[in-house]
Amino acid sequence: MSIKSSNLGYPRIGENREWKKSLELFWAGERTEAQFTSEMEQIRLSHLRKQQEKGIDLIPVGDFSYYDHVLDTAVMFGLIPTRFKTEKQQLSLQAYFEIARGSKGKVASEMTKWFNTNYHYIVPELEDAKPVLTENRPLKLYKEAKEKLGISGKPVILGPITFLTLSKGYDKQKRNELLQALVPLYIEVLQQLAEAGAEWIQIDEPILVKEVDNEVVRELNEVYKAFHDAVPNVKIILQTYYESIEQYQAIVQLPVAGIGLDFIHDDGLNLAHLQTFGFPSDKVLAAGVIDGRNVWKTNLHEQAALIETLTNVVDEHRLIIQPSCSLLHVPVTVKSEQNLETVVKDALSFADEKLDEVVLLTQFVNHVVTKNELSEHDLAVKNLNDSPLRNVKAVHEALANIHSDAKTRIDASERKKLHDDRWNLPLLPTTTIGSFPQTKEVRKQRLKWRKGELSNEQYEQYIQNEIKKWIDIQEEIGLDVLVHGEFERTDMVEFFGEKLAGIAITTFGWVQSYGSRCVRPPVIFGDVVLTEPMTVKETLYAQSLTSKPVKGMLTGPVTILNWSFVRNDISRIDVLNQIALAIREEVEALETNGIGMIQVDEPAIREGLPLKQEKADGYLKSAVEAFVLSTSSVQEETQIHTHMCYSNFEAIIEAIDALDADVISIETSRSHGELIRSFEDYLYNKGIGLGVYDIHSPRVPTSEELSQNIERALKVLDYRLFWVNPDCGLKTRGIEETVAALKVMVETAKLYREKL
Ligand code: GLN
Ligand code: ZN
Repeated sequence: MSIKSSNLGYPRIGENREWKKSLELFWAGERTEAQFTSEMEQIRLSHLRKQQEKGIDLIPVGDFSYYDHVLDTAVMFGLIPTRFKTEKQQLSLQAYFEIARGSKGKVASEMTKWFNTNYHYIVPELEDAKPVLTENRPLKLYKEAKEKLGISGKPVILGPITFLTLSKGYDKQKRNELLQALVPLYIEVLQQLAEAGAEWIQIDEPILVKEVDNEVVRELNEVYKAFHDAVPNVKIILQTYYESIEQYQAIVQLPVAGIGLDFIHDDGLNLAHLQTFGFPSDKVLAAGVIDGRNVWKTNLHEQAALIETLTNVVDEHRLIIQPSCSLLHVPVTVKSEQNLETVVKDALSFADEKLDEVVLLTQFVNHVVTKNELSEHDLAVKNLNDSPLRNVKAVHEALANIHSDAKTRIDASERKKLHDDRWNLPLLPTTTIGSFPQTKEVRKQRLKWRKGELSNEQYEQYIQNEIKKWIDIQEEIGLDVLVHGEFERTDMVEFFGEKLAGIAITTFGWVQSYGSRCVRPPVIFGDVVLTEPMTVKETLYAQSLTSKPVKGMLTGPVTILNWSFVRNDISRIDVLNQIALAIREEVEALETNGIGMIQVDEPAIREGLPLKQEKADGYLKSAVEAFVLSTSSVQEETQIHTHMCYSNFEAIIEAIDALDADVISIETSRSHGELIRSFEDYLYNKGIGLGVYDIHSPRVPTSEELSQNIERALKVLDYRLFWVNPDCGLKTRGIEETVAALKVMVETAKLYREKL
C-alpha cells in the first residue's frame, strides 16, 4: 500500500477573486439566488477538479463556504441567534448573510480572529440554543463531488469541542448540555456520510493546540468514543493545526482512525512528543509537512528527511502527507504573478503550488520520483538565498550591531518638560490619528496614475492639493497637532511595502480576511532596505503650510511584519529588526528635516500574540525591542507618538508602557469601558489619548457624549497627560461628517479645558 496525499482545505476566493465578485453582486441585488448558487457551484467544482487533476488522494469537501465555516456549522445545527429566527427551520440565504453582516435593526453576530490567523469567523451565539440538524451539509457536498466529478471526497467538519469553545453565551453546565445535544446530531451526519460511501472524514479540532484541561480530555473521550461506537467503519481523522497539541498522550489515544498534526508550526514539539511517547500502531498519522501558512517553496529534501524520521515511529503505510493546515491562508496561484523578479517568483508557492509539492513529496516517498527531481524543485529557494536580495552586507552588519547601538532615552517625564517648552500646547491637546477621507476621487486619481494616465508630477500635484486642503481645514477647526492626511497611501502596510527594498506587493496574492473581504499581504522576500525617504516630501510640504506642528506618520515594524508574508530562511525576529532599522532611518530623516513629532503606528502588536501562553513574553519582548529600536535614536526634544486599534489590552499593558512612546492614542469606544478599567490600577505616566469618538459610523457625536467620554477617562488618567483624538484614522469616513465631528471634538476639548 502506498502513502497517500491529502489536503485540508482549499482557498474559496478563486484565481481572480470570482467568489468575492459573485458574493458582492448577489448582495447588491445584481444576481438572483439561482444565478448566485450556480456560480458558487461552478467555483466549488472547479476547485475540486483542480485538486483531482493534481493527484491529491484525499480531497476535502465541505471546506467551501459562502461566508464562513463556523457560521455554516452553527446554521447546520440550527444555532441561529434569536433575532434572526423565523418560522421556517431552513434558514434562507438572505438570513444566513444577515447573521454575518447585520440588517436593518438587527446587529450582526460578532466576528473575531480565527486562532492566530488573519481569517475572521462569526462567533455563534448559544444563549437559547436548541441544537437540531437542519441539513446535512457535508453530505450534500460529498454527494455533489461524487456525482458531478466522481470524487469520493473527504468531508471536513468542525469538531464539537472546538465549535463550542469558539462560541459564546453559555456557562459550564450549559456547555455539557449542549455537548450532549450536539453529539447525536454529529453522529447522524457521520452515519449518513458513511452510508453514502465516505471513507475518510476530517474532524477539525484546532482548539487542541490551545487549551486542553482535564475536563476537555474527558469531553474528548466521551465524544469521540460515541462517534466511534456509532460509525465504526468510517475513518475519522482528528485534525489539528497551527501549533503543537497539548496533552499529546491523551489525544493520540482517542478512538479515531487518524490524528492530524502540524509539523511546521509546532516548534518541533509534535515531533518530540511523537519520538518520546510513540504513536499508536493502529492509527494513521496525517502529517502536515508543507507549510499552509506561508508562501515559500518547501525544501523537499528536508521534508523527506522529516518523513523518514517519522517512519522510525510510525509504520510507513500509516502515513498521510498533507499541508500543515487548510490552504485558506495563502493566495491561489503564483502563475498569475507577472510583476515579480524571477528569482523571487520562482521561490514562491501558493495553494496550487503547495498541492504540487504535497504530490511530489508523496511520489518521492512512494519511490515514484527520484531525489534529483526534489533537487530541481529545491533549487529555486537556494537561488533566492544566494541572491544579492538576501545578502545585503550593510543590513547584516547593522543587525549584528543593534544591541551595542541601543540607545535609551531619558525618562519620559523629563522629556515631557522639553516637549512642553518646545510646543507649549494647551491642556488636552487635540489631534487626529493620521488619515483623512480617502474619497472616490482620491482613489480614482491614484488608479489613473498607476495606469500611467497621470504623470508622477500630476499625481504629486494632486496629492499636494489634498494636503493643502486638509491643512486649511484642520487650522480652521482649530486642532493643535496636524497631520498631512495619508492621501498617497492605499493601505498603511502596503505603502511601506512598496517603498522598501526587500518587500514585494503581489498582483493577485489575495487571501480571505472575513466574508468577501480579502487582503493582499506584502511579501517580505529579502533584506529590508530603505533606499530613499518614504514620507518626508509629503510631511514637509504639510509642515510648510502651517505654524502648528505636523506629525510625521509611519507604520511600525511589528505591524509591517504581522501583516505580511515573511521570509523563512532567517528568524522572524531578525526580519522584524531589519524592518525596525529601516523605519528608524525614516524617523531620523523626518527629524533631520525638522519634523518634531513622529507617530509610529502599531495596531497589530496584540494580534501577533502566539497561541501558546508561554510564548507571549518572548514575543512581546521582541516587539517592544523592535519598536524601541525604531524610535529611540531621536533627540530628547523629539516627541514619539504611537497608535493602536482596540483590542484587549490587559495582557499587554506593560508592553505598551515599555514602548516608551511619549504619546499613545488608543481606540476606545468599542471596549465598552474595559480599556479604561485596565488603566485603573496602572500608573501610566506618558501622554495618552483614549479615542473620544467611534469612527466606524458616519454619525456625528454630540458634545455631551464627548464630554462623558473625556470625563470617564480622566477619572483614571492624569489630565496633564491626556490628549483628545478620535478612535482611529478617518480614511473610511466622508468629508462632511469628518469635519463636523472634529469641530465638535475641538469645541468640547476647549470647554473642558476651562473646567480644569
Ligand atoms: N495612521 C493610520 C490612519 O490614520 C492608522 C490606521 C490604523 O490604526 N489601523 O489611518
Ligand atoms: Zn486604529
